[in-house]
Amino acid sequence: MNEKLFCVMCGTEIPEERLKRRAVTCKEECAKERTRYLHRRTARRKCRYCMQPATPEEQSAFKRWRKKPATPEEQASYEHWRNWQAAQPAVRAARASAIESTTQETPHDPT
Ligand SMILES: [Zn+2]
Repeated sequence: MNEKLFCVMCGTEIPEERLKRRAVTCKEECAKERTRYLHRRTARRKCRYCMQPATPEEQSAFKRWRKKPATPEEQASYEHWRNWQAAQPAVRAARASAIESTTQETPHDPT
């Protein structure tokens, strides 16, 4: 197959080694730009993270909540979220040390 294929982002010819990986972009930057574009396209209709329908009003309500909770319910969920977020470094540290202890079970002698 000797067809020439062109980058969907900038129209440059896609190099052979990228075609082997079924790439549709000519270089890493174009691939990243395409990902950003697809994310933006999804985000217009749905939340990128939970895939629930989200209107622009809901999105701005979420931004407001994250900045400054307006109602007691918002305040409560905001504090719950802040506590969860504050606990994350400890959770990550515990996870990392758990991984470390499993790798130490098989000691490796470099000599
Ligand atoms: Zn390109």
